[in-house]
Amino acid sequence: MAELRVCALYPDLMNIYADRGNLQLLQRRCEWRGIGFTLRGSGLGEPLDPDAHDLYYIGGGQDRDQALCAEDLATVKRDALHAAAVRGAVIFAVCGGYQLLGHGYEVGGERLPGVGLVDLETVREDGPRLIGNVAIELDGRVLAGFENHGGRTRLGTSATPLGRVLKGHGNDGRSGFEGVRGGPRGNVVGTYLHGPLLPKNAWFADWLTASALGQDPGGLTPLDDALEDAAHAAARRAAGL
Ligand code: GLN
Repeated sequence: MAELRVCALYPDLMNIYADRGNLQLLQRRCEWRGIGFTLRGSGLGEPLDPDAHDLYYIGGGQDRDQALCAEDLATVKRDALHAAAVRGAVIFAVCGGYQLLGHGYEVGGERLPGVGLVDLETVREDGPRLIGNVAIELDGRVLAGFENHGGRTRLGTSATPLGRVLKGHGNDGRSGFEGVRGGPRGNVVGTYLHGPLLPKNAWFADWLTASALGQDPGGLTPLDDALEDAAHAAARRAAGL
């Protein structure tokens, strides 16, 4: 039986706006399809096995929690995460976690190190926080969620955005781009969208699951998504789409 092996990084520190709900959704959809599911956490100081998981997840976090995690991510877990990305594991990070995927996060006169998986830099500017419902377009489909971040993320020349902003602010409120998709196998994904994101965008959860399992998303058993579709429609409406 196929099995999705998930590792949540810093589950106690990096979990705001119910980002843990993303994991619950992945678990449920695996169970409904008869796909095995295991979830492990990896906290500060704990080494990471690059071969033991198919999907590594980092939720959002406030600046003070990010500061605790950034150093650990860039030292204790760095090599394992890079090896996992090369192997084709999915690395999926939301907001505070997303900001740590790149080179660094400059905040309050300090520069938190990033794990260097993708070419991006985040700076906390003086301007207002970028808050509100948001919708982005990727591959002709819509992701809808909620954003609340002070950091502005700029993608480097070798980074590809996850999507194009339809409503809301996105990476920096200016570029029209949201999130990142990159890494050695295109399986490193970062986004500012909370909500949690996946219960509002089940199609995207399936894409992550299939990618992590090395399968085609179209090959996953179809589910009755009436509730999920309603949640998605509500999130789109909230964003004004
Ligand atoms: N602390 C970060 C910021 O404000 C991320 C916040 C979040 O994860 N929502 O930019």
